[in-house]
Amino acid sequence: MFVIGCHLSASKGFLAMGKEATSIQADTFQFFTRNPRGSRAKELDMGDIAAFLEYAERYHIKTPLAHAPYTLNPASAEERIKEFALLTLADDLKRLSHLPGSLYNLHPGSHVGQGTEKGILQIVEVLNQILWAENQTPLLLETMSGKGSEVGSCFEELCAIIEGVEFKEQVGVCLDTCHVYAAGYDIVNDLNGVLEEFDRIIGLEKLRAIHLNDSMHPLGSHKDRHAKIGEGTIGFSAFCHIVNHPALQNIPFYLETPQETVEGYGEEIKRLREAVQ
Ligand code: FE
Ligand code: FE
Ligand code: ZN
Repeated sequence: MFVIGCHLSASKGFLAMGKEATSIQADTFQFFTRNPRGSRAKELDMGDIAAFLEYAERYHIKTPLAHAPYTLNPASAEERIKEFALLTLADDLKRLSHLPGSLYNLHPGSHVGQGTEKGILQIVEVLNQILWAENQTPLLLETMSGKGSEVGSCFEELCAIIEGVEFKEQVGVCLDTCHVYAAGYDIVNDLNGVLEEFDRIIGLEKLRAIHLNDSMHPLGSHKDRHAKIGEGTIGFSAFCHIVNHPALQNIPFYLETPQETVEGYGEEIKRLREAVQ
């Protein structure tokens, strides 16, 4: 089954996002759990969540993807920043237990000069403190472009993080097409090779979500600038291969392309649905 959606603003609540998704023929969506810069989260509106769950059931909206604030850094050398990441992630995960069927995506972090190994250790330490045995929300590590001192721009680093986590079965990966391409994985000329490498190092069963973004910058640039589908260095035909790839069936796709309006996402969703065979 082909499931596709886009990033939506959470400001009007879950039911509003569900309706917005339906209006552009999306059957899923992504949202920030709180202001992307990481401020305090709004009080959960249980009535809105109940109304959304009913709406989602009726209109076949699946797998909302909650994105953690991208400024959180569990790999920081500063104890205060690491602690803030831990508290925020833990709070988000608890709140998501009220949104069954959702996924929680986070950027692993930046080691800020401490070295990748230290960064990975800290990320593992934080994940081990926020996950608990009964947690039902899969936590996804996003593949990063490798700008600055980002951890998670190669499959080996993501694997090392997962290996360190006690509740491994709760941890998966969200593959961002712009980020992996910028990190040097050639999904344009060798999609099969990249997926085989992912499978060999992490295991394809860990791949739970895909961010569909074209890239402004070339392969291996380590620059994180998204472009509209077909308007970047990845190009539309590569996206046709991605959405039709047999190994990627049943994995939800989320657009995070630079759009001025939700209708802009609607156009991309329409083109990609037409590309699916
Ligand atoms: Fe992200
Ligand atoms: Fe992304
Ligand atoms: Zn990005």
